[in-house]
Amino acid sequence: MAKNGVSGPVKPDLAESRPTGRGIQSMGGMSEKAAAGATPPRTCAGKTGPRKPFFAILRIECMFSTRLKTDLKNLLGEAVVFDAPLAAQTSIRIGGPADGLFRPQDAEGLKKALGFAREKSIPVFVLGKGSNTLVRDGGFRGLVIHLGLLRRFEKTGDNGSGVWVTAQSGVPTPQLIRWAALEGLAGLECLAGVPGTVGGNVFMNAGTYLGEIGDKIQEVKILDNKGNERVLKREKLKFEYRTSNIPPSSIILEAVFLLQKGEKEKIEQKIREAFEKRGLAQPVEQPSLGSVFKNPGKKKAWELIEEAGLKGVRVEKARISEKHANFIVNEGGATAKDVEVLIRMVRDRVKQATGELLETEIKVVGEG
Ligand SMILES: Cc1cc2nc3c(=O)[nH]c(=O)nc-3n(C[C@H](O)[C@H](O)[C@H](O)COP(=O)(O)OP(=O)(O)OC[C@H]3O[C@@H](n4cnc5c(N)ncnc54)[C@H](O)[C@@H]3O)c2cc1C
Repeated sequence: MAKNGVSGPVKPDLAESRPTGRGIQSMGGMSEKAAAGATPPRTCAGKTGPRKPFFAILRIECMFSTRLKTDLKNLLGEAVVFDAPLAAQTSIRIGGPADGLFRPQDAEGLKKALGFAREKSIPVFVLGKGSNTLVRDGGFRGLVIHLGLLRRFEKTGDNGSGVWVTAQSGVPTPQLIRWAALEGLAGLECLAGVPGTVGGNVFMNAGTYLGEIGDKIQEVKILDNKGNERVLKREKLKFEYRTSNIPPSSIILEAVFLLQKGEKEKIEQKIREAFEKRGLAQPVEQPSLGSVFKNPGKKKAWELIEEAGLKGVRVEKARISEKHANFIVNEGGATAKDVEVLIRMVRDRVKQATGELLETEIKVVGEG
């Protein structure tokens, strides 16, 4: 295989990397296919008609009828928009539109939207900063919930040596880390340079070799799939490598962290060092989703990908980074399909070359 310029009509087959039915999306029992493929097909304008067999990535059929849109507008007001492009909501800058995109101001608005979605069997997907989510080119048939307006955080307790900090799920974690450093609160600097929101970071149990977000969590408030708020205490929480026992069908509303009082200068120094290391090791200047695959064992995913000879390989405008082989970067105009073709290629070649089967860390949603 030529190192540069791999291309071709490989059909993505990534069933195992499609966590779209995380419960939230499948809430109400409607599958993605059922939602999208109802006959006769409906266009976004609510008209019926045959599917247009043009380029697959341009075929966008909104499942929301005019009536449904009106009902949603009446219920949620200006906070809901339709046929909303999602590429700008993801760090790799890829993805088709969502039928609906809702930005709740508070938990009550969120409950209203989820109740409606449940009643109407509308698939739902929660998006944080989209720094670990690949949205397929056809977009998402259903309602995407963006929690970016839930961004309050504050100190909520003090035990002498430590401070409790409660943060809503839409708080960008880098902002929280900067604030904690200024306050002389230690604990979160292990996440310096990890993009995302508190909700996304907790859901993914984001971390680095210095530690994981789960280590600092005292409790998590969630909205369960019946719309009830529940508080999960530390004793009941189990965080593992890029996952946890938080029910996948729930939405994280806020998290309580216990941070240690420390020296501001030392904390800031650690953060600076983390950023420097990252800048040297990762393609931070290019749009990506961070590590695409989980590290399977003793060897890191990037080592296995390099062993398989795939560093620098590209499909159209998506490339396996020259700087870090577990990153796929968008060189400008890449599609989700390009990325999925690369993902499948990596899995196949790494399996052949090393015997290891790589599992994706990123979440893939929507329709091709
Ligand atoms: C340059 C770069 C470097 C990175 N480095 C690291 C790293 O060192 N370590 C690491 O762990 N990760 C890393 N990542 C990946 C990413 O930052 C993390 O996975 C992060 O936790 C994703 O947060 P997010 O808010 O962007 O989540 P999203 O990508 O928006 O969502 C990820 C998943 O979380 C779910 N989710 C989001 N919010 C909620 C919520 N409120 N309730 C329930 N579910 C929710 C989504 O439905 C989705 O399934 C990196 C990414 C990039 C682009």
